[in-house]
Amino acid sequence: MMVANVGSKKGLPEGLWTKCKKCEQIIFQKDFEENFMVCPKCGYYVRLNSAERIKYLTDKNSFKELNAGMKPVDVIEFPGYKVKKDSYKTKDAICTGEAKMGGYPVAIGVMDFEYMGGSMGSVVGEKIVRLIEKAIEKKLPVILVCASGGARMQEGIISLMQMAKTSAALAKLGKKGLPYISVLTDPTTGGVAASYAMLGDVIIAEPNALIGFAGPRVIEQTIRQQLPKGFQLSEFLMKHGMVDMVVERKNLKDTIIKILKFFVFNKAK
Ligand SMILES: [Zn+2]
Repeated sequence: MMVANVGSKKGLPEGLWTKCKKCEQIIFQKDFEENFMVCPKCGYYVRLNSAERIKYLTDKNSFKELNAGMKPVDVIEFPGYKVKKDSYKTKDAICTGEAKMGGYPVAIGVMDFEYMGGSMGSVVGEKIVRLIEKAIEKKLPVILVCASGGARMQEGIISLMQMAKTSAALAKLGKKGLPYISVLTDPTTGGVAASYAMLGDVIIAEPNALIGFAGPRVIEQTIRQQLPKGFQLSEFLMKHGMVDMVVERKNLKDTIIKILKFFVFNKAK
């Protein structure tokens, strides 16, 4: 978690105060939460986990999780993976389900960066495909909120295959005339950026999010040139046509609802 709880050290009730990672100001936890976990002093975006994101994006009590029990398997017997994969709060790096947004039914998936850097393995791919299949069956728009370091090396080639698998499922969705809205948050990189993250009919990014395939250091070493300022940040990508809009977190739900209304729910019967 990006916010350290300092309450206990000062003898205050736990969870009452938090310290902003960027400006280091001590802030009321409630003020942070009411501001969508964006620092009220400096505007720093705290990374959200899937539960927090779902709470902010969907209508109250409308979210019904799908395939909640799905767990990763140590297929290639990668050293340490067997223990590591079961040492987190969530079972894998994505939570998917059906929900309502502004009263509209949607299929939504939210990645968890907290779980192994939001890496995409077989479970992430399979849950996304099943979500898309559910959306096709029930004629729902799909929303995916991305936060990922890329493909999961602990699953080797199996994780790379998820790029093709999710892309194929999204192509099917498109053929049915159902929209897919992609929301890119900090960071969206590697195999996720190179597949479903960038395939949205509408691609929205949170401000200042790192979005790209390889990191800036790797690119600089490869091309032996210095990269321009702000390279791979949301605003730079929008300027160069890779992202449709940069939307502040507090306006994200309303913006998605507006898009849904425009594309799906406002059509003449
Ligand atoms: Zn701050």
